[in-house]
Amino acid sequence: MNRAGDETANLNETLAAARDEVSAQRRVVEECTQRLAMQEAELSGLKSRIDRAHSLYAETARRMEDLFQGLPFACFGYDAEGRIHQWNRACEELFDLQAFQVLERSLEEVFGTMAAMEDLAAIGSKPFEGSVVEKLLWKRDREDGKTQWIETTAFPVRNEREQIVAAVCANLDITDRAVYEAQLEQSMERINRYSAELEAANQKLEQLAVTDGLTGLRNHRSFQQRLEASIADARETDSPIALVLLDVDHFKKFNDAYGHPEGDRVLQGVAAVLASYGDEPFTPARYGGEEFVLVLPGLAVEDALTTAERVRGEIEAAQPTGRLVTASLGLAIWTPEMRGPGELIAQADKALYKSKADGRNRVTLASSLWVDEKRAA
Ligand code: GH3
Ligand code: MG
Ligand code: MG
Repeated sequence: MNRAGDETANLNETLAAARDEVSAQRRVVEECTQRLAMQEAELSGLKSRIDRAHSLYAETARRMEDLFQGLPFACFGYDAEGRIHQWNRACEELFDLQAFQVLERSLEEVFGTMAAMEDLAAIGSKPFEGSVVEKLLWKRDREDGKTQWIETTAFPVRNEREQIVAAVCANLDITDRAVYEAQLEQSMERINRYSAELEAANQKLEQLAVTDGLTGLRNHRSFQQRLEASIADARETDSPIALVLLDVDHFKKFNDAYGHPEGDRVLQGVAAVLASYGDEPFTPARYGGEEFVLVLPGLAVEDALTTAERVRGEIEAAQPTGRLVTASLGLAIWTPEMRGPGELIAQADKALYKSKADGRNRVTLASSLWVDEKRAA
């Protein structure tokens, strides 16, 4: 082989190698181009997803804003510095302030005249410490002169990482409720007053039911009840008890001579003598017509007789009409053998009858009668 032939062969070899390399490079470029196209397609898919997410987010934010604006409660949002960032339509109505008048202003500036300073401080700080401020009462003097009562609740707003990013304050006009509650309180006061009056009236009625209208003493029924109770006591304590039955003498004649109203004054005079002994324990009562009773508990027979005699003397001396009026008395002593109050009264009545028979204006002791009857028998 000559030299020229060798060189040509070498060149051909080099050329073929270069061709191979070029075609290898081309394949690499083609692969790269393919990969690039695939990545581009992926990227554009990603981009459209991001765009969709963006518009979804914007839509959600817009909806949230719509929701916030349209809430039926007056709500406003504020930051940790107490600057107001959101102010819904109900707020504009409730506080008579437009959003542009309050946005970026502080709680103190906007609510300084309505809320107590410590309440405002709590609303400004507590939600950012993670707690809810519940039901504070604000008072707003409206331009029309009326007072508005507002109940306020403030709470924290957190992001998805649970960090507190803002606070919202919700406000409710409770003026009507406050007015209603004030009215209710007034009504309650009135009801309490009425029931106190009713109770007083009832007590009076009760009093009337046991009182004799002419003399103010206990009436017959009330006396019977008290006598039963006194006898029950006497039985239990084994202490003496006596009963005085008293009848105005010749009262029919008195009425006939001086008239019924004058007779009434006599009865009132007798009642006054008896009442001076006191209801407890003597229980003076109008037994009926011109008859009266007196209980003498805890007195020995002699003392009961002395007391009855004193009563007789006092009636004789009283003379409420300026005319002499006397009374006859029958005294009976309770003994355990007696069947009940009826027997005691019957004995006093018997003794009274004896006083009348013996000439009136005197006291007769029933047990002495008993002895006399036994002697006679
Ligand atoms: P004696 O001494 O025997 O008791 O005679 P007396 O006239 O008192 O007794 P009598 O039972 O005959 O009359 C009782 C009188 O009492 C008759 C009645 O008109 C009168 N009387 C009863 N209740 C009242 C009253 O509320 N007011 C007046 N003024 N009189 C009354
Ligand atoms: Mg009589
Ligand atoms: Mg009489």
